[in-house]
Amino acid sequence: MSDFFAYKEGRLCAERLDVAELAARYGTPLYIYSAAALSANLCAWQTALGERGAVCYAVKANSNLGVLSLLAARGCGFDIVSGGELERVLAAGGHPKTVVFSGVGKTVGELRAALRAGIGCFNLESAAELEMLNEAAGALGVQAPVAVRLNPDVNANTHPYIATGLRENKFGIDMAQAREVYARARDLPHIRVLGAGCHIGSQLTEIAPFEAALERILHLVDALAADGIELEHLDIGGGLGVAYRDESPPAPADLCAALLERLGGQRLRLVVEPGRSIAANAGILVTQVLLTKQTGVKNFAVVDAGMNDLLRPALYQAWMRIIPVLDQPRPAAVWDIVGPVCESGDFLGKDRTLGLAAGDLLCVRGAGAYSFCLSSNYNSRSRAAELMVCGERAQIVRQRETVADLLRGECPFALDAPQCA
Ligand SMILES: *Cc1c(COP(=O)(O)O)cnc(C)c1O
Repeated sequence: MSDFFAYKEGRLCAERLDVAELAARYGTPLYIYSAAALSANLCAWQTALGERGAVCYAVKANSNLGVLSLLAARGCGFDIVSGGELERVLAAGGHPKTVVFSGVGKTVGELRAALRAGIGCFNLESAAELEMLNEAAGALGVQAPVAVRLNPDVNANTHPYIATGLRENKFGIDMAQAREVYARARDLPHIRVLGAGCHIGSQLTEIAPFEAALERILHLVDALAADGIELEHLDIGGGLGVAYRDESPPAPADLCAALLERLGGQRLRLVVEPGRSIAANAGILVTQVLLTKQTGVKNFAVVDAGMNDLLRPALYQAWMRIIPVLDQPRPAAVWDIVGPVCESGDFLGKDRTLGLAAGDLLCVRGAGAYSFCLSSNYNSRSRAAELMVCGERAQIVRQRETVADLLRGECPFALDAPQCA
């Protein structure tokens, strides 16, 4: 796959634009996304599935309207986990029929909003949700299309925080209870059973766990057929990994080929919910070295992006590649790249061999997924700007926050109120 962030004459480019010039123009920390990379990553999934399925991008990986609108315009569907994400998809021009709604804790308000919008499918995660949805659909005089999200109890060999398909995880419905839930769904007047699904984890680098999950779901499909329940689609979830360091995950084509082969001649459609594999390598975070500090034990490069801007290293012990924006000949040393936030967990990378000095720009690669969307205002830091690049064009898709944005909605406490001691 081609790289849309590559050096030209020692200067890092985002597609055809010079990253140092973008940083000078828009400031740092700055997220930059490549439209061509997003399109290519989506296209790999669409081509892999062809007519036999659909791609529902997992909005939570990167929910910027610029990203969502680009994917929607290229025919992508969406996997949402909240009413807020539904609003984003609709604002980005996504078609409600292409939306599937996952999540263990949907509120009645969210169920109603999704029913009114006419989304394509509710991925049910509990028997209680089924009853809530039937009632909400009845009140609106509609039928709710559902798939049951199963917990296939397979080990995805990933970080415990992003393993979701084990029996002890909170997600999905236990395989042993699934038939009962389907039978109840079949008998409810405002429910229409469409499919079955799962999502076993994230940053998976092997095909085998997906195959194991599909195998278990296909056993259930047979049992359901005996109960008179015919499904239209199977949703294998997201979770395909990317190469942050030296991982070599399978291509979407290889994964889909294996799964479609297992489905054989059955007329079941295959739905996929990739997030990371579409967005991660389509984004970078650009940050500037504020100063360097040598303590005798460690070399620290303090940069202007902190854990509030990029949480993955602190939250998941994630290793993210850090490279210089300008490839200059400098004596290399081993550095911890740390942010300004008052936490020892505030680092972007540890023990990195780099030639750097105060004022340099650094680029964190693989920052298109689970990066900006996890950012916060901790330490009253304004969140970074987000920029979309397409060829020679750049467009801000989220403005850098201002201090006024930070204070919006807050007010001082009225100490002289009568009830106040
Ligand atoms: C997070 C999530 C995804 C996307 O996972 P990736 O690892 O980003 O591909 C898909 N489906 C569900 C239900 C999710 O929660």
